[in-house]
Formats: sequence, structure tokens, C-alpha cells
Amino acid sequence: MRKALTGHGASRGSALGRARVRQPHALDVAEEHIPAEAVESELLRLHAAVDAVRVEMRNLRTQLHGALAHEVGEFLDMHALLLDDPELLQGLDALVRTGHYGADYALRLQRDRLASVFEGMDDAYFRSRIEDIDHVIGRVHAALHKREAELQGVAGEILVADNVAPSELAQLQSQGVVAVVTAAGSTLSHTAILARSLHLPLVVGAAESLQLINDGDVLAVDGANGEIIVEPAAADLRIHRARMRDEKRERKQLHRLRREPSRTLDGTDIRLFANAESRDDVAEAHALGAAGIGLYRTEFLFLQRDALPDEEEQFRAYRDLVLGMTGRTVTIRTLDVGADKADRTGLALTGEANPALGVRGVRLSLAKPGLLDTQLRAILRASGYGPVRILVPMVTMREEMLQVRAALDRVAGELRAEGREIADHVPLGAMIEVPAAAIALPGFIGIVDFISIGTNDLTQYVLAADRGNDALGDLYTPLHPAMLRLLHSIIRTAKMRGKPAAVCGEMAGDALFTPILLALGLEEFSLHPGTLLEVRRAIRAHDLSRLRSQGNRLLRAHDRAGIERWLAHASA
Ligand code: PEP
Ligand code: MG
Repeated sequence: MRKALTGHGASRGSALGRARVRQPHALDVAEEHIPAEAVESELLRLHAAVDAVRVEMRNLRTQLHGALAHEVGEFLDMHALLLDDPELLQGLDALVRTGHYGADYALRLQRDRLASVFEGMDDAYFRSRIEDIDHVIGRVHAALHKREAELQGVAGEILVADNVAPSELAQLQSQGVVAVVTAAGSTLSHTAILARSLHLPLVVGAAESLQLINDGDVLAVDGANGEIIVEPAAADLRIHRARMRDEKRERKQLHRLRREPSRTLDGTDIRLFANAESRDDVAEAHALGAAGIGLYRTEFLFLQRDALPDEEEQFRAYRDLVLGMTGRTVTIRTLDVGADKADRTGLALTGEANPALGVRGVRLSLAKPGLLDTQLRAILRASGYGPVRILVPMVTMREEMLQVRAALDRVAGELRAEGREIADHVPLGAMIEVPAAAIALPGFIGIVDFISIGTNDLTQYVLAADRGNDALGDLYTPLHPAMLRLLHSIIRTAKMRGKPAAVCGEMAGDALFTPILLALGLEEFSLHPGTLLEVRRAIRAHDLSRLRSQGNRLLRAHDRAGIERWLAHASA
């Protein structure tokens, strides 16, 4: 029977397919005992399931690339660590071996036991780890039952679940899942950001979906307005087909923008750089006419390995990137790892109580002798092959930039003395993502050549809202008057001093925010290549002088609703 439900549209696109309902991970398994002679085979079954999940996660890891890959990878690494936790594995074995419980019930007992440890903790962060336990145990449980079925045969299906981890999305898409509907979640979560860059339709917050949708129901999902029709009628199918036609037309129109300039209606060219790490990203950035690479996160070279990359290895990676961009500027960011990133090299400090506020980014580079020098040498050597800029993450104070500048000058002198070919001048810039740096910018803009605003971290630190915590729902968003005022002040300071300023956080890649950034005076964006054409289209649809003349009104907005009213008016 036809039913209509609504949630929030989190990633645009329409899909028609059969529902695959995944009930929440809390395992509702009845107590089950097995005879003594079945213990060994039950253990084998359990271990095979754990191994399958391990392989699944490893494969998933290798498929990841792109601007969000390191964040997605962090979830996977955390889950991989949990899966290898002796507490978890030995506990499970003991339950089967001595308790004679079936594997399913052992999983449930073990889940409840670990969850109760976290539940008792005062710290909200640790309490939220229960989600990770549920996720890992849920995967093992799924592998116990439908290992083959789950990995294949889902092409054309729409996943309906309580929530989906960012790490699962790429896998779901590669399996052919055409859309995802979740009962929980927010449109600004990492899952939603990732779905948008994967172009996978996603509806979040469809609270009744798990009750009202059954496995196998046919669903028509509209990821733009959050509408879900269960068992669509003829009229719904007609609407769906018309929408699919419109979307195809839109994709074609976007495709035509590949060779067009990113020029506003009144003739100002806006520079669109790409955030790129993988070869595919670089090739796409090049093909789409990106002005260059605005952010290359070097963490990728350092994570998921046991030894640090030496100068030669780093040099080759940077050089190839520079060659790949054939003369367009490449902005290489020095290392930004901290205890929050999965690091096996022993580089980052471990055991920090609050890694986001800990020794990460430039703090780590300056604290570890040799680390910064090696990286600067490798980058400078790459500058012999094409234009390169160096970007420093997590800058808080002028002194940090002075120290990096001194190291850069020293290392450049050494390389020249060795007879290496390096560029005469390699611009040095600061990421503005710590509020202190944003506020004190007038005091040190004079010692940097350019700035790049990291709105992902800036939003987290200005709003005291963990960027990785989906439970914060709508709180983590740049649509806050404090953020807009700060952005405006940063951009104005840079402009007054004649220094290029870009935004390289996710905000730059969301076309919804384009009119805001233009109104605030931004002329350079750095974004994932997958979103470049949508932002180009938004730029081409706006009159810059009209937007700028409305900038003051935007800055006077008192709240998110006021900003949204401004946006609706600006986009009318
Ligand atoms: C940011 O913080 O906005 C940013 C671009 O850096 P990262 O996402 O790598 O922290
Ligand atoms: Mg950052």
C-alpha cells in the first residue's frame, strides 16, 4: 500500500529501488545455547566472520581517496582497532567456549558488556564510543549471517537504516546501492558531506522509516526534498521519471560548464582551486579547469604505515603532483596529524585527553626536530618542476610562522648550496582555522604570502562543536553570525594587505554557501573537484556587485534563520 514519509534532503538525486532495511545494531538475539560438541565449529564460524569484516574494512580503506578520505579513514581505523581488541575477541571466545553460547548471543552479551563500561563514564566522548562498538559488532553479526548476500546483490537497492557511518557510504555505493535513507542523522554530518561528494542520494531524519518500511518494499526517494514514497503509485512513478529526466538534463548542463569560466554575471572571475590528494582528483581538477591545487593534504603520505616517508619519497610524490598540474600552482600543506588521526609511525603524541586541542599541525612539526626540515626540503625540491606554495596548518601565533619561515629560508639556502634547482620564491601561507589566528590576523598577515581559511576546523573551534560528532546535529554549521563576521574580517584583512585569501574547508564546496562567500568578499575557493561545477554554476548565476551590496545585511543577521532568509533572497 502506498505511503509517503519525509525526512531531510541531505544529498540531492532521485532513486527508485527496493528497500533493504537494516535494523539498529542493538542485537535483539534470544539466549541460545549450543551443545559442547558444536563449540569448535561455532568458534570457526565466529572467527571467519571477524576475518571477513577485517578484510572488508581493509578493502574499503584502499578504495578511499579524495578530500574527505582521511576523515572517513579515521573511522575505519578506529573500527579496525576495536575489532582487534583482545578484550572483545577473547571475551567472545570465552562466551562460546565456556558459556556454550551461540555466536550471535555471545556477540550480544559482549556488546552489552562493553557498552555498559562506556555508559558508566562521565565523559560524553567515551559514551559516544558505544556507537562504534555497535557498528563493529553489527558488522560481525551481518558477516555471520549474510556474508555473501551482503557484499553482493544489493545493486539497485535503497538502504534504510537508523544511521550510516561515513566509512560505509563508499562501500555501499560501490556495491550499487542507489540511495540511503536514515532514521537519524543531520544534513551537515560527515556522512551527509560525503554522500554529496559521492553524488549518492541521501535522506536523513526520516524518523518513521524503520517502522513503516519493510524489506523489499519499492521506494521512490527524492534526496533533494527528503520525500520517500513507499510502493509508489502510477502518478508517483510518472513524477519520479520526470524528475530523473530533469536530473539527467541538469547533469548534462553541468558537464557543459567544464570549459566555461567561473565568472559572475557582472564579469568578475572567481578562482576555483581543487582540494586534491589522489591521482584521480588531480586529473579531474585539471580537466575541469581548476586554477590549481589549493590544498594538498600531505597526511596521506604519513598515515597507515609503520615508518615515516623519507625526503626522497616525499619529493617524488610532490614532484608528480606538480607535473600533473602542468604549470598551475600547487599548494602543499605541511603535515597535519595529531593524536586524533590514526598514526602508526609513532609520530603523534598518544594519550592526549583532547587531541583536537593538542599537539597537531604546525605544533607537531615544530616539536619534532627534522620533521619539518625534511618536508620543506622535499617540497622545495618539487618547486624546481613547477609553481608551488607551502601552506601551514593549525597556526595559532605569529611566532610559529616566523619559525617556519626561518626554517624555509635555511633549508632553501642548503639546497642551493647543494646545487639543487629550486624556485626563486616559494610563497608561504597560513591556514586560518584557529580562532586566535583569525582574530590576531592583522598582526601577522604581513609575514605570510597568502592565507587559506579552514572552515572545517574554524567552525569547530568557534562553535565549540566537535566536527566529527553527528549527535550535534545542526549546531556544527558555518551558518552562525559569529562565523560570518569572523570570515568577513579575515577576508577584509587579507584584501586590505593585498594577500590572496581562499576558503578550503567544505564550506567552499557547497553551492548553497556560494552567495554568502561571494558577499563576504571571497574571490578564491578551494574545493573537492566533485563539487567544482556546481559551485561554478552558482558563481555564474550571481551578480557580484548586487551580492556585495547586500553584505552588510547578511552581517546583521541575528541567527541562522536570518541568514537563511538572506540566502533565499540572494538566490531569488
Ligand atoms: C579545514 O579545517 O577546513 C581544512 C581544510 O583542513 P582539514 O579538513 O584537513 O582539517
Ligand atoms: Mg583543518
